[in-house]
Amino acid sequence: MDFAFNEDQNNIREAVLKHCAQFGDDYWLDHDRTGEYPTDFHKSMADAGWLGIAMPEAVGGSGLGITEAAVMMQAVAESGGGMSAASSVHGPVFGLEPVILFGTEEQQKRMIPPIISGEEKMCFAVTEPNTGLDTTSLKTRAEKVPGGYRVNGEKIWITNAHVADRMLLIARTTPLEEVKKKTEGLTLFYCKLDRSAIEHQLIPKMGRHAVGSNMLFITDLFIPEEDRIGEEGQGFKILLQGLNPERVLLGAEATGLGRIAIKKASKYAQERIVFGRPIGQNQGIQHPLAKAWMQVEAASLMVFKAATLFDLGLDCGIEANSAKYLAAEAGYEACQTAVMSMGGMGYAQEYHVERYLREVLIPRIAPVSPHQIMNFIAERVLELPKSY
Ligand SMILES: Cc1cc2nc3c(=O)[nH]c(=O)nc-3n(C[C@H](O)[C@H](O)[C@H](O)COP(=O)(O)OP(=O)(O)OC[C@H]3O[C@@H](n4cnc5c(N)ncnc54)[C@H](O)[C@@H]3O)c2cc1C
Repeated sequence: MDFAFNEDQNNIREAVLKHCAQFGDDYWLDHDRTGEYPTDFHKSMADAGWLGIAMPEAVGGSGLGITEAAVMMQAVAESGGGMSAASSVHGPVFGLEPVILFGTEEQQKRMIPPIISGEEKMCFAVTEPNTGLDTTSLKTRAEKVPGGYRVNGEKIWITNAHVADRMLLIARTTPLEEVKKKTEGLTLFYCKLDRSAIEHQLIPKMGRHAVGSNMLFITDLFIPEEDRIGEEGQGFKILLQGLNPERVLLGAEATGLGRIAIKKASKYAQERIVFGRPIGQNQGIQHPLAKAWMQVEAASLMVFKAATLFDLGLDCGIEANSAKYLAAEAGYEACQTAVMSMGGMGYAQEYHVERYLREVLIPRIAPVSPHQIMNFIAERVLELPKSY
């Protein structure tokens, strides 16, 4: 058991923090205010080769693991970029895992290089307005037509869809009434986000304004056969393969956000003098920050345990879900403690922690809610009856 990063992992952390330092607090504050997409940040990360960190060398990646990707994503959020920075580069880092595992060689060579070079952007179109966490009940329909599929349906919360060139889309190819199990009859595609057949509407939301999330209305979208990933009807199983790395990376991002919030609040607590001494000399300020630090670091250990198991090819579903849950809750506690430790200035945009608090709610809710993770742990670990 090894609790220390190796030299390469330490170097990745240092290099990413140094790279992200070019995009300081003002950059993220401005983008949050204007809602402008962080195009130059995304481009700089692609140009520096970071987007392909966990993709195979054969398709232009660095061939490293989810552990190294988690080191990178934690540093991206911890740099102060938070979820705005992380969500602009998070998809390319792990999102095409289904193509690596189930795509043909031709698909891998065609689909992956433009994403890791930054030439193309992608999004994940899974969630639907009328089915929510009950993914296998999704209503988007892909009907077989000559040469491919015709798709109709609606998706919701699709992050980056307004700037994306391509999307990983899951749709039902066999109606629910005709399958034995709800998990059957769903098919995964990685296709062009053809705006002549897809209308998007940005959803006004609480935070991470620079990286939008969208409603999608899909009408008669044609997807050629060669853009189907794996076998028809096996899409749900294929999608599941990418869920554990996604949970690990979101956990890493939430702990990064927690760390920067604690750092900012501790600095403020050293400098702010009230009643003739720094506010940080009061245990009422020290203890919540100390507790938040311990919770974030404990969650970070679970993140890296799950990442290590994944990279060793071992089962990691329980650890990856636990890591996402613990990291998001600890990150949230850290951000809200930072705001409360700084009094009125905690609520002022120029001190940044209010932005972190708004952003840290995202890894709490997505890609799976805390309730659903507790349902999963209760069922799979505690062997209690399935409750949903
Ligand atoms: C900012 C943001 C970005 C997102 N980006 C994407 C994206 O890029 N692509 C994508 O596909 N999706 C995305 N999502 C969607 C996200 O994954 C979902 O919002 C999330 O999975 C929850 O689904 P829902 O909103 O439909 O909640 P619902 O399924 O409607 O559930 C509502 C609430 O009820 C609770 N609940 C429901 N059933 C149970 C039960 N049996 N037991 C206990 N509690 C229950 C849930 O935990 C939840 O808190 C994003 C969401 C947000 C907020």
